Amino acid sequence: MKKKQLGRTGLIVSEIGLGGIPITRVEVPEGVDIIRHCFELGVNFFDTARFYGDSELKIGAALEPVRDKVVVATKTIARDAAGVNEQLEDSLRDLKTDHIDLYQAHNIATKEDLDRVMGPGGAYEAFRLAKEQGRISHIGVTSHNPDIALQACKTGLFETLQFPFNFVEHDPADKLFKVAQEMGMGIIGMKPLGGGQLERADLCFGFLQGHGQVVPIAGIQSKEEIEEIVSLYRSPRPLSREDWKEIEKIRQELGDSFCHRCGYCMPCEQGVIIPRILLFRSQMKRFPRAMVVSLAEAPMKTREGCIACGECEDKCPYGLKIPELIKEYRELFLDFLKQDRSSGGTD
Ligand code: SF4
Ligand code: SF4
Repeated sequence: MKKKQLGRTGLIVSEIGLGGIPITRVEVPEGVDIIRHCFELGVNFFDTARFYGDSELKIGAALEPVRDKVVVATKTIARDAAGVNEQLEDSLRDLKTDHIDLYQAHNIATKEDLDRVMGPGGAYEAFRLAKEQGRISHIGVTSHNPDIALQACKTGLFETLQFPFNFVEHDPADKLFKVAQEMGMGIIGMKPLGGGQLERADLCFGFLQGHGQVVPIAGIQSKEEIEEIVSLYRSPRPLSREDWKEIEKIRQELGDSFCHRCGYCMPCEQGVIIPRILLFRSQMKRFPRAMVVSLAEAPMKTREGCIACGECEDKCPYGLKIPELIKEYRELFLDFLKQDRSSGGTD
């Protein structure tokens, strides 16, 4: 597996990394075995989050013997310094390490989030101190909102940006990634398989190989999945005219139902948490069943307040028919609750 430098962090990472969500769907011994297999195949970059169930535990157990040969990244949703200190201790313990190579402010969704993280007593104060103490080596940020991500990049205080990037969500390449690159930031592409909604790995990674500035992190839950992805990197082939036609077809098919989680439709005056309802199909494929239910239950309940006013539709830059979609997703959720087992998938 080829390696590249992750921006001004100077970290040298494999050209694809492991994203730590789907691994939560398998038992601990199997998860540990899959993560070790990734390492044996040449993957040295492993990204997870405090929030991803037992993902940190599995990654820690799998990589402890090779800790000095891998780059470990995790994230915190804490917005204040006290919260970061608590979560960082827990992450260090579960990851079985004395330092985290890349520690990221997770899912900065709004200006208020960014202001809280950067303000007095905010998360960034704890990041800075932890870096001085050697408990973390580099500081990054993740977001789904291009405007907020841009503002975070322009602070000059983050060394990496993690943002969704795949052949459906390709807008960031035009502006956001250019700015991040100009700032010397490493760029990490989350959701290379569209959060489980894109099935053709050859098309997904063929597209990403045309964007060498981005290090995608692939969420996988089996050895076969990582073997397929690694083989696409060992023997890369340019996308053909037919491949591009297929990509265009998939873009069209998903176009009016694919939520980019940017949050521009919010707030809803009736309290409907729209993006979290629209995340359901993706969560269903990536998280363990109990976690899917706990993540979706409260947002789905808010759907009952929808009066179909259409204000959210006017604000969505992707033209999603939101009232119809949230109704459909609520029905899907009720069906899911009736099923015995959830379906499989990758990130
Ligand atoms: S259509 Fe429903 S979800 Fe959208 S803004 Fe109106 S009440 Fe909220
Ligand atoms: S529904 Fe539209 S505006 Fe709302 S998060 Fe999804 S893509 Fe963004």
